[in-house]
Amino acid sequence: MPNSSESRPAEPLRFVLIGPGGAGKGTVAQRLTDSDDHLWLSRSWTTRPPRPGEHPEAYVYVDRPAFEAHIAHNGFLEWAEFLGQLYGTPVPDPPSGHDVLFEIDIEGARQIIDRHPDATVILLLPPDEETQAERLRGRGDTEEHVASRVEKGRHEVAQGHEMAHHVVVNDDLERAVVEVLCIVEGLRPAVGDAFNPPEE
Ligand code: 5GP
Repeated sequence: MPNSSESRPAEPLRFVLIGPGGAGKGTVAQRLTDSDDHLWLSRSWTTRPPRPGEHPEAYVYVDRPAFEAHIAHNGFLEWAEFLGQLYGTPVPDPPSGHDVLFEIDIEGARQIIDRHPDATVILLLPPDEETQAERLRGRGDTEEHVASRVEKGRHEVAQGHEMAHHVVVNDDLERAVVEVLCIVEGLRPAVGDAFNPPEE
């Protein structure tokens, strides 16, 4: 009798990357999907304007009415307001055989876990607040915004520790990316075991 799991594509694994501003989530998320051909990064919508030098495809940039229309059409898996701007994850449609990576805030992560309790939450941390503030300044945030992101970040870290399955410190980008890749790989079902019996 055919095994039903063979005829149906497996459910994708879901990974949720959270962490305070300045942890480097965006950079790490991009590097993860560049390095892992089976990981698909969900592209969020936002009402915030693009930052100078930000990749034009970092988000789908829309105005508030367009965002609210998408909410009304049930187009988001989750959405949240963060420091006065709306951010939302469109209902994901990954290519077949791909696992999904969400890079979102704590509120959004909660909503995803409510819907998908088997999602894996990874908390990315900056090495310290000084480095965190420096990274925020480096991408053009105003001093006022840096201060509010650092302050908000303290709460995000405290809440993040409560919901995270894994914590990774981003003091060295290469190491942090490898650490997350190991977490992802470790959760995937082993492939080809039958063809690779252990050596005698
Ligand atoms: P930023 O403006 O710095 O790009 O993002 C602000 C915060 O919003 C970050 O914590 C980022 O992870 C989060 N964020 C980005 N996309 C989404 C999303 O689709 N949903 C939610 N809930 N948060 C998001």
